[in-house]
Order: sequence, then C-alpha cells, then structure tokens
Amino acid sequence: MKYISEYRDAHLVQAVMDEITRVIHRPWVIMEICGGQTHSIMKYGLDQLLPEDLELVHGPGCPVCVTSLEMIDKALAIATHPGVIFTSYGDMLRVPGSEGDLFSVRASGGDVRVVYSSLDAVKIAQENPSKQVVFFAIGFETTAPANAMSVIHAQNLGLENFSLLVSHVRVPPAMHAILESSTNRVQGFLAAGHVCTVMGYWEYGPIAQKYKVPVVVTGFEPLDIAQGILSAVKQLENGTHEVENAYARVVSYEGNQPAQRMINQVFEDCNQKWRGIGLIPSSGWQLKHEFRQFDATQRFNIQKITPAESPLCIAGQILQGLKKPYDCSVFAGQCTPEHPLGATMVSSEGACAAYYHYGRPT
Ligand code: SF4
Repeated sequence: MKYISEYRDAHLVQAVMDEITRVIHRPWVIMEICGGQTHSIMKYGLDQLLPEDLELVHGPGCPVCVTSLEMIDKALAIATHPGVIFTSYGDMLRVPGSEGDLFSVRASGGDVRVVYSSLDAVKIAQENPSKQVVFFAIGFETTAPANAMSVIHAQNLGLENFSLLVSHVRVPPAMHAILESSTNRVQGFLAAGHVCTVMGYWEYGPIAQKYKVPVVVTGFEPLDIAQGILSAVKQLENGTHEVENAYARVVSYEGNQPAQRMINQVFEDCNQKWRGIGLIPSSGWQLKHEFRQFDATQRFNIQKITPAESPLCIAGQILQGLKKPYDCSVFAGQCTPEHPLGATMVSSEGACAAYYHYGRPT
C-alpha cells in the first residue's frame, strides 16, 4: 500500500538507526508523548534497535489512560440511571473505575453501547426520543472537533435528550507539568503527529524555548518514529532546542483551522484531573456556558464521588516517564488485559498493554 509500506521498510529504518548510533555521544532521555507511538515502538521492536545511550520513556498521550478515575466513576453512575443510553468508544468499557467498569454496568442491565463517533450518539438520540443519550467525550485535541460538532448538530436538530460527559485533555499543559516537576527526566519530546494535524505545532515553540528541550512532531510508522528520534538526538547533541516537523506529509504549522474554530466555538479551557498524575491547570476543555444544556453532569444528579485507585498501580509514574511497566509489582501477574487494575493495561494505546502484548518483561 502506498505511503504505508515505504514507512515500514526495514532497511530504511535500520539506516536511520545506524545514523542515530553514529551521532549520539551522551545518554539522553526522550519521551514519545502518544501511546500510539509507544505501541509502534514496541510492536516493531524499535527500542531494541536503539543505542544503549538513548532511553525512550512513555508519555501521557493515551486518552483512555489519563481520563480521571473520578470521571470514570461519574460515567458508571450516569450509565446506571434508568432511561439512559450511555455511549462510548469501545476502549472505555473495560477501564476500571473504583467499583466495576462500564461492561459490568451493561452486564447488570444498563444500556451501554459502543459507538465510533459522537455523531453516532446523536443519531441514537434522534431514534430514541424517550431516552436520555449520553456520549463519553474523552480524548485529546484529536477527538474534540467531532465532539464539538456533535453538540452543534444536536442543537440544530433541537435535541433535548443528548448530552456529553466531557473529559477532554490537552497536550501542551501536560508537557509543562512534566517539565516543571522536580523529578523530571525528559530531555526531548516526540510530539504526537495526529494531535498536531488538528492543532498544528505553534503551541510548542514557547515550551521548547522555556525549558530548552527539542520537540519533534513525529508520526506513527517505524520510519517516522526513527526519523523523529534522529532529529531529537541531533538537536540534543548540538545543544539546540527547536520545534521540528518530521511529519510534514500530514502536519502544518497552523494545523486544521476549521477544526480549531469548531473546538473554540463549543469548548473553553478548564483545570483537569489526569488519572494517576493529578490536577494540571488549564489542561482540559469543558463546554462553554451557552452549551451547558448538553453537559451530562448538569443533567444528572450524581452523588458525591469518592474515587479509590488500586494502591498497586503505578501508571501515573509510567505516564510521566519516571517508571516503566515492568517496574510495577503486579505487571502480567495480578494485572493483565483480561483483569486490568489500571487503565494503561486496558487501552490499545496504553504502555502496560504494549509491554504485555509485545513482550518486554525486563
Ligand atoms: S501493570 Fe497494571 S497495575 Fe501496574 S501500572 Fe500497569 S495498569 Fe497499573
């Protein structure tokens, strides 16, 4: 297939890896922000081709993983309401809340449905006027435009039985939080190509300059990732800290402006809790006041939530680049994809799931 096989060419990837080995002279720690990149790295064994001096750590760019436990518990509470059809991306159904998950709500008779987009949920609301239809609007900048569009669409249709449980997160504030931490180890970033497709990369310049870290916009195929790493290593070795675009076939500096306008029309910044990490200022989006009638937390009377995370789960430290999945005492033992204790073992973008599926026990 054109534009896929070329980027999986083993000889080209090896040539870039050889170049990384040639240019690196000191140990460096680089974080790939997106969980999709983590899975590519593990799936294609890219980490095993890198020189020993280079350590890749796995960032918080897995939306399922960072959706706060409190928000999962709110989803469970809303989904158990009589007369509710709760709709969600499939990954979210197995994410453990304090007590159970959305699958267990469905097993107990709740109407929990998997959809591919929030617009599917709008359609379900049209077809079920006697039910309240809620969409679990999680995700980064990538899913926000479609979720914003679903609100506009529902408004235009005059729907009064559609709402969003919004838990959007944004990448740049998370990078700030990681770099501000006294325990930070990250010296360079591979920025998430799909997020930059929507948002461009104009937001990253101030981060690169303030913290003196190179940021390289990177795609998801093996060659994309290898080239992203090479660009970051070259900058680290040269002492520069610029924003580079190694995914130019998809990403532009300004990004998708209509999508950004759609986001800005419907959402506004808010403080957001990240699972295992805590509250990061201005790191989320919430519905603007004029769209609050589509806010599920306003529509349903949710009792006070007291989230209780498994004390064994160190996912928050993994997502900040401080630990690896195999540092967790219950990895592949008490915690498996079939019986996850934390969200990073569930998601198709979760670091623990990547280590589990592609076998990096030590
Ligand atoms: S292996 Fe399971 S319990 Fe351990 S950090 Fe990963 S998700 Fe959490």
